[in-house]
Amino acid sequence: MNIKITDEALPLWNRLSDEEKKSWTSNVTCQKCHKEINAADFSGSLYEGQLALFHMCTQCSNKEVRLIDVEGQTQKDIDDDFEQWVKAKKAAHPEKFRS
Ligand SMILES: [Zn+2]
Repeated sequence: MNIKITDEALPLWNRLSDEEKKSWTSNVTCQKCHKEINAADFSGSLYEGQLALFHMCTQCSNKEVRLIDVEGQTQKDIDDDFEQWVKAKKAAHPEKFRS
């Protein structure tokens, strides 16, 4: 995969799994002329704080942007952090967590 991602957008892009990256960049067709978009024609950057994929159709020059929701992943990170926090608390004060 040869996608140009800006430095600000890269951390968000890297949060996606390889599978998610693939699903965002493969089997994409131009909404105007339905030509398949080559993954190399994508570029990623931040758009209003959200990860966005831009591409231009090589056939009809139609420009498209798709916003990628990485929030699901973010929520998982938050949950993981909370679990880590609970574990640390339990380890530090086992008497408080006896049930
Ligand atoms: Zn097109």
